[in-house]
Amino acid sequence: MRLILLGPPGAGKGTQAKKLVEKYGIPQISTGDILREAVKNGTPLGKEAKAYMDKGELVTDAIVVGIIRDRLQEKDCEKGYILDGFPRTVPQADELKKALSEMGQSIDSVLSIVVANDELIKRLTGRRTCKECGAGYHIMFKAPKTEGVCDKCQGPLFQRDDDKEETIKNRLAVYNDQTEPLIEYYKKDGALVDIEGTGGIDEIFGRICAVIEK
Ligand code: AMP
Repeated sequence: MRLILLGPPGAGKGTQAKKLVEKYGIPQISTGDILREAVKNGTPLGKEAKAYMDKGELVTDAIVVGIIRDRLQEKDCEKGYILDGFPRTVPQADELKKALSEMGQSIDSVLSIVVANDELIKRLTGRRTCKECGAGYHIMFKAPKTEGVCDKCQGPLFQRDDDKEETIKNRLAVYNDQTEPLIEYYKKDGALVDIEGTGGIDEIFGRICAVIEK
């Protein structure tokens, strides 16, 4: 099963991808997570990507295409995978198509998670992450028992630099400009399915499972 999760920042792609990993045992490939890890480790890739990420801009297509090409070769991708946050531009989608055809593969479904803009801003500004274990929280929708402290490991919670309000507005503008055209792109391929992205996490997950099990 090879899936693409498409949708604006804050649509819940990461949350739903983690549930898909649990249920279907295929890996989540998030270019955002891979880049954040590189930034944390101070690698040359991380240093190059950080400036773009802090402003809410996209890193260059060449960087993320390289990351994805390498990652798709790994053994755990044999049974399938969930692409989360990639592709994000038409050239990235073209490059993905090329890489997949070289590997004799194709994408089974592109799930487009649909959420209104004002809801996205509310979701993104409240997002918090544990510095130690990476667990995700939300100050309104999934608050930790003690403010600023992870329920699971007692680590400190922080707000991603790119979840600050100004950067969020830019990320949404970048999405509308560069990523939204992929909806038409995949519609033409016949692989796109809209998923209503509001409601409870499990409710949305149910909608996704209904589509991929069809
Ligand atoms: P995300 O966690 O998916 O929201 O990604 C965080 C940031 O990483 C984005 O705002 C971009 O700066 C960068 N990024 C992640 N995936 C991509 C991609 N496919 N193309 C370009 N930049 C990306």
